[in-house]
Amino acid sequence: MPEMNFCPQCASPLVPGQASGRERLICSRPCGYIYYDNPLPVVGAIVEYDDDTVILTQNIGWPAEWFGIVTGFLEKGEEPAEAILREIREEIGLTDARIVSFLGIYTFYQRNEVIFTYHVRASGTIIMDATELQAVKIVPVAKLRPWPFGTGPAVADWLKARTEARQ
Ligand SMILES: [Zn+2]
Repeated sequence: MPEMNFCPQCASPLVPGQASGRERLICSRPCGYIYYDNPLPVVGAIVEYDDDTVILTQNIGWPAEWFGIVTGFLEKGEEPAEAILREIREEIGLTDARIVSFLGIYTFYQRNEVIFTYHVRASGTIIMDATELQAVKIVPVAKLRPWPFGTGPAVADWLKARTEARQ
């Protein structure tokens, strides 16, 4: 995360100080600004596609072996369920998408984000937004291997629930 250095209210330097029971960055002038650094809300979806597959995406700048589920920031005034369908439309061009279930809220501590995660079923022709993504891949559910951070635990829980439901 980029560090915040200056007060957005008066442009003075922020300095460490105590506020609401924690050390935080506070304005060095008496304008009263406190940088709470609250987590940002993000939406994510395990997008199930044709023939028991899932769509994974790779953001621009990620290493070639990294893939994740579709994610994006919640916009002001937007419901999380609307936001994830918008992200799916924008990032991979799928307009025929519907939410199957809400999977839960997962915390991505390293990025200071909370991720509202959904299971979505979608079909149609994938059109990758090349301004945000550098690769998209379709992975059979049987070959999906969750990663240990961010949206990975959501994938792990989804796979576990799916396996149990089929037993
Ligand atoms: Zn200030």
